[in-house]
Amino acid sequence: MKIAILSRKKSYYSTRRLVEAAEQAGHEIQVIDTLRVYMDIASHRPGIHYNGQALTGFDAVIPRIGASITFYGTAVLRQFEMMGVYPLNESVAISRSRDKLRSLQLLSRKGIGLPVTGYANSPDDIQDLLKMVGGAPVVIKLLEGTQGIGVVLAETQKAAESVIEAFMGLDANILVQEYIKEAGGADIRCFVIGERVVAAMKRQAQEGEFRSNLHRGGSASLIKITPEERSTAVRAAKVMGLNVAGVDLLRSNHGPVVMEVNSSPGLEGIEDASGEDIAAKIISFIERNARPNRTLTRGRG
Ligand code: ADP
Repeated sequence: MKIAILSRKKSYYSTRRLVEAAEQAGHEIQVIDTLRVYMDIASHRPGIHYNGQALTGFDAVIPRIGASITFYGTAVLRQFEMMGVYPLNESVAISRSRDKLRSLQLLSRKGIGLPVTGYANSPDDIQDLLKMVGGAPVVIKLLEGTQGIGVVLAETQKAAESVIEAFMGLDANILVQEYIKEAGGADIRCFVIGERVVAAMKRQAQEGEFRSNLHRGGSASLIKITPEERSTAVRAAKVMGLNVAGVDLLRSNHGPVVMEVNSSPGLEGIEDASGEDIAAKIISFIERNARPNRTLTRGRG
């Protein structure tokens, strides 16, 4: 097969591993810098240009689109879809997953366990919003944040009120969430491919920190997950319409709750922790599923 991988750099761990795995399986694979693709979008024969040449003949495309380039990246991916190239994850699903509020609404509609979460726009509603999510301690999240930046634990009512007020004063979009204390500063990353969790790891926050992000000094280890956690992760990926996803769960008193569904999950932490060849599993999924014009939306929606 001829596979394209949309990624800013060849040297990124995940990109490098996917290239290795594809070549090992005998495929031709080309890394394409997402931001250097240009397109003739009005033509009746959709095309993609790169380095002065038209890109053609691809059977599948692996999007590795960073959060900061979602807008352009999904447009590029849509163009591939319009040309009938099979996307590992579809552009609509990626856009969906990048909107934290929309994601939580979609998951909640399908009855997937979530932390009690509130959202409000006006400072006049803060008191009631806090009451709604069960009062302090609460976690306040900037909707645009990643890697734990903009995630604040407010331990008292007063602290919560002032943090929310401050964020609202800056016109930042935030959500307010029940603090799952019993998770003990740990979350579980489930790596889903198709209908299976192929690996799971526990990320434990540093002493004195509640955020377990590896970028914030958290440490990863292998973990055995329960059947309920397994099915929650698979269902969450499915609701979002993602073939490959990193589903982050917290172990709460009321069962597993989904914090986030990531559409471009990194391979480094999970391959390290699990010892699994996740890249090969992704390539093998593509081999089993890629057909021309197999996109559900073909760039629509
Ligand atoms: P980001 O997308 O920026 O990583 P997250 O929503 O994943 O933000 O939060 C970062 C970390 O903070 C999580 O990995 C988790 O360890 C912790 N955390 C987030 N929300 C909660 C919560 N409601 N209760 C307890 N811990 C939380």
